[in-house]
Amino acid sequence: MVGGWGSVAVGEDDGVPSIIVVRMRVIVLRGSPGRAPIVGGDEAGVWEVIRHQVEVVNQVMSQCHIRVGGPDEVDIVIADPPGPCLLSVGEKYGLPSSGGEVRLMLDGEKLGPWNIAGDLTPEQTARVLFRYIEDAGFKPDLTVGIRGPSDAFARADLLVRRVDGTLAEIERWPHEPLTTDSMQSIDIGMVRLDDGLESYGVNEINIGTLEERTLLRALSSKEPGTVEIFIVNRFAGSHKQGESFIASSAGTLGDAAILDWRALGRARTAYTFAHELGHLLLGDLSHPDSRGDRRTWLLMHSRASSAVGGPARITEEQCTRMRERWGEIRASF
Ligand SMILES: [Zn+2]
Repeated sequence: MVGGWGSVAVGEDDGVPSIIVVRMRVIVLRGSPGRAPIVGGDEAGVWEVIRHQVEVVNQVMSQCHIRVGGPDEVDIVIADPPGPCLLSVGEKYGLPSSGGEVRLMLDGEKLGPWNIAGDLTPEQTARVLFRYIEDAGFKPDLTVGIRGPSDAFARADLLVRRVDGTLAEIERWPHEPLTTDSMQSIDIGMVRLDDGLESYGVNEINIGTLEERTLLRALSSKEPGTVEIFIVNRFAGSHKQGESFIASSAGTLGDAAILDWRALGRARTAYTFAHELGHLLLGDLSHPDSRGDRRTWLLMHSRASSAVGGPARITEEQCTRMRERWGEIRASF
């Protein structure tokens, strides 16, 4: 039987709740292009590390009759951190344009100056840039709808690829600003892991920082019904070990989580991998303790307790919600 959105239910004998299998893709970043992956040392090592994580996750999710594929069915990818391949319009407060000129280089070729009229929303400016970039022989990919709580308008992202699908390299003209517009900002997004991944603050929940959006937009498979887990070295200036993004009208990054390597090391104490996956399966970024729930042994509690019994318990209500979101529920469950 094919279950709900992107999942497959198996073992559907009468009276036995079916197991819902969620497709998962794990993307392990290299520290810098061409260098060793962040965990595992080499390809075989990465597989060993991730297989172990998947085993722990499946152990935890068994109580909800959910699996994330077998260890061998999980798609594991080792990837370079994306270079400067994304243009963000309106990263600063989503402000409209006041008019100006845009100059940039794609793969070393000087392009522009391109005129941008006044009173354009970030999306409208991005659409103008989209056409210019396409005319220059590249393949831009536009995403809008990222509006921070205090932004004037939604920000717009343009991921730029070459015709062969590989990521193009965006630079400024030497000694020239990217835009002469004094109000509407244009920024280049790239991922540099040597200083850690810039993590989001309270105003960017489910929106992500420019660096996070560059990572997810450049490397996501965009397959609906697949959860994607990105492994990085660490988050910049933060004690965070994991962050999640949920596909929704406000979230344009799909169902994805980012974990640092310490989170993997705490597989059976804090269950961070399973916790972040729990956010994705629940479609909820909040924690029960924010509503006064003091059960620190719950998987979804924000502060993991490594007390005996671990923070690996999921409430029945949460299990039901996960199954509703990822598959069909049998009446008997
Ligand atoms: Zn959490």
